[in-house]
Formats: sequence, C-alpha cells, structure tokens
Amino acid sequence: MHSTEHKDEVIAVDADEGTLEEVSPELLPDFAVLSADTPRLQVAHWVLPAAIRVGVPIMRVNAQGVGPLAIPGEDTACALCDWRERVDALPDGDRLVDYRRNVQLPRTVNSATISTEVAVYASLAAQEVIHFLTGMAPPNTINARLVARLVNASFERRPVRRDPDCPACGTRS
Ligand SMILES: [Zn+2]
Repeated sequence: MHSTEHKDEVIAVDADEGTLEEVSPELLPDFAVLSADTPRLQVAHWVLPAAIRVGVPIMRVNAQGVGPLAIPGEDTACALCDWRERVDALPDGDRLVDYRRNVQLPRTVNSATISTEVAVYASLAAQEVIHFLTGMAPPNTINARLVARLVNASFERRPVRRDPDCPACGTRS
C-alpha cells in the first residue's frame, strides 16, 4: 500500500551540488512523472537512475506516449530500456543519437507536440498515477508504453522489455 498523503514540498536537487540520496527519505515523493525534455536526450539519463536508486516509482510521459512505469525492486522496464530498444531498432541509431545530441535545433522544433495529444497523454498519465497510488486497478504502463493515434482515434499498448544492461534499472554490473 502506498501513502496517499498530500505532499506539497518541491524537491530541487542541483545536479552539481547534490544527489537524491541526500534528500531525507520522508521528503521523497511516492511517485515521480518524468515529462521534462530539456536538456534534450540528457534529462532522462539524470532523473531515471536517481529515482530508481532511492526507490521512487517513475513513469515517463512525452510526445511518444505514456510509460513505461518503473517500480524499483520489481521486474519492470524503465524509459531508458525503451529508449535503448528504439535506438537499436533504427539503422545507424547510435549515429543518429550522436547527431541529434550535438546539433542545435531552433526552439520551435522542441515544441512540436500537438496540444490535443498533450491533453490526452496528461489524462492517461493521471489515470496511471491514480491506479498505482490507490491500487484500484493495475497500471497499464508496467512494461509498456501507451501510444495515442488521434488521427484515427486509436490507442496502442506497446510492450517494453527490461534491459539487463540498462544504465538506470539494469541488473548487470
Ligand atoms: Zn531501464
């Protein structure tokens, strides 16, 4: 059973000055949603390992969908597992990632998500958080990512496999 107490503290951790391990355990959230996208291709590599290390369940939400939900201590894939699998599926995926990491795109390129899709994903994410925290239903994002296709009003649940070599949740050292 997870705590449902309201917590209004904002936890800010300077990447250079401290780590989540230094935050008092009672101040850690019951759940984290990763929706930040700046700095591009880096923020997930900072936040996901930290949350998993201190035992905070974390779910990604972005323009590619909702999930996966990583639950520390359980056999669940995280967003970096999903990321690695998707990069590996691309021809020259690693080169493409290096290119995108190094190229400076105009700010408008980072804001291309269509607002109606954002609203759908926000609702799906909120429902997932409610399912997890209350236990009223199993979350749909465990080892999966929910993708909406508003052009034909459809939803898809795409499986995500846990990567044993994942830098955030991997079990191999
Ligand atoms: Zn992972």
